[in-house]
Amino acid sequence: MTDVFIIGGGPAGLAAAMAVRRKGLAVTVADAGRPPIDKPCGEGLMPDSLAAAARLGIVIPPDAGRAFRGIRFLGADGSAAGAFPEGEGLGVRRTTLHPILVAEAERAGVQLMWATPVTGLRDGAVQLGRHAMGARWVVGADGGQSLVRQWAGLDGVRRASRRFGFRRHYAVAPWTDYMEIHWGRGCQFYVTPVAASEVCVVLMSRDPHLRIDSALDRFPLLRERLASASQATSERGQLASTCRLKSVATGAVALIGDASGTVDAITGEGLCLAFQQAAALADAIAAGDLRRYEQAHRRLARRPVFMADFMLTMDRWPLLQARALRAMAARPDLFSNLLALHIGKLGLAGFLKTGLQLGWEIATI
Ligand SMILES: Cc1cc2nc3c(=O)[nH]c(=O)nc-3n(C[C@H](O)[C@H](O)[C@H](O)COP(=O)(O)OP(=O)(O)OC[C@H]3O[C@@H](n4cnc5c(N)ncnc54)[C@H](O)[C@@H]3O)c2cc1C
Repeated sequence: MTDVFIIGGGPAGLAAAMAVRRKGLAVTVADAGRPPIDKPCGEGLMPDSLAAAARLGIVIPPDAGRAFRGIRFLGADGSAAGAFPEGEGLGVRRTTLHPILVAEAERAGVQLMWATPVTGLRDGAVQLGRHAMGARWVVGADGGQSLVRQWAGLDGVRRASRRFGFRRHYAVAPWTDYMEIHWGRGCQFYVTPVAASEVCVVLMSRDPHLRIDSALDRFPLLRERLASASQATSERGQLASTCRLKSVATGAVALIGDASGTVDAITGEGLCLAFQQAAALADAIAAGDLRRYEQAHRRLARRPVFMADFMLTMDRWPLLQARALRAMAARPDLFSNLLALHIGKLGLAGFLKTGLQLGWEIATI
């Protein structure tokens, strides 16, 4: 018997474990894999992700990865760069981030069970093959293809769409201290510096057959940058869906991280959301009321969902994409405001003003 049983020891599960542990509850985490657990990811931690992690007491040392000071959009119709209004982002390999989170969870007194797939939920008990463990609260942190979601009957979807992400690392000194998003027809590449001599490259598209090498032909500038670099890892793919659930908690079961819904990977906000949700979930569990978590979860998703919608509209409509890139190149101040909005540093008035100005620029450029 434990107070809280968390299914999945990825970033969301470990963050939730630490947050709940700090409320004085006993926490057990089970994961089917063993650390360090890798996963196709853009590996960019935005300044708000680092701040949310720090609020949970998670310290990610700057030398764990490579700092970047903002985001640059590049396209055939223009490019725009903006520095974060506060702080820096950090590109960190998943195989570096995961052991950091595991060590922090161990320090916090979380009981960790690796190579332990959870096989079901029955009568408030978590099934571990032939064994079962009782828990007052169960948290599903088992990723985008969550089984806990099904077992708990939380798989009612409010909204869903599918894209595909492919990731590969290249051994090359980062040529920029920005995270870059390269815009093309029907796909994007984003590039995150992750070490002094390595970058993480992610391809996002709606085409399940498109792969990094063939897609690079549409991006001559990026292809040239990577031409002489050796491949440090092989290409790994992942379904990168956008999914919003009708509900993320029922009875004594709550979902967190990708299990609780996803925003498109291009926002780079998945880890931030997981860390923010962890704090909200711990508060709700300590108060004995998961409805509070449900409300907080909805509120936390608003900004990333808005940014994802904006970027996916650019993805869908090439003409809009071209005009938006030209407008942002002509008005770097508006791009900087968008970036401030992206990391939660722009108030409602600033958001409305930027929205109107950007709309005008796009319509008239
Ligand atoms: C292509 C791509 C690029 C991305 N880029 C970024 C980015 O740059 N920045 C960012 O912040 N976010 C990014 N994201 C999002 C980010 O990767 C996710 O939001 C994050 O990994 C979610 O963490 P999680 O713990 O919820 O899920 P996961 O990392 O998927 O972890 C789930 C864990 O549950 C375990 N598990 C599953 N089933 C069971 C079971 N039955 N029993 C026990 N264990 C189980 C798995 O082994 C796994 O360890 C990206 C996502 C994609 C797909």
